[in-house]
Amino acid sequence: MLGTTGDASLRSKQSNGESDRREELPMPTTRPDATTRWRCGGCGNLTRFDVTRQTKSTEFWHFDLAGQSTVETAETLSESVLEVRCRWCGRDDAVQVVARPDGSP
Ligand SMILES: [Zn+2]
Repeated sequence: MLGTTGDASLRSKQSNGESDRREELPMPTTRPDATTRWRCGGCGNLTRFDVTRQTKSTEFWHFDLAGQSTVETAETLSESVLEVRCRWCGRDDAVQVVARPDGSP
């Protein structure tokens, strides 16, 4: 009798960045406010995150006669955080919004 040894539950988190398949869309992440902050539930990281943002903005581009442009003013119309990935362990599904320790104003 031979047992089935193909257990797919053994997934080691290796950071070789080759498999980036996501079965579900990441939920829109809430930005931390004055009383909250992000925390990685995987490793406890509180300070370092890679944030993927999508912004829509209107900018005033000022070209000089040589064709060089300078953005003089920019107004952000909308902004959304698409993904927050922990800088330490690389997880993007474990970052949560928690209260700051000294969140009392
Ligand atoms: Zn982490």
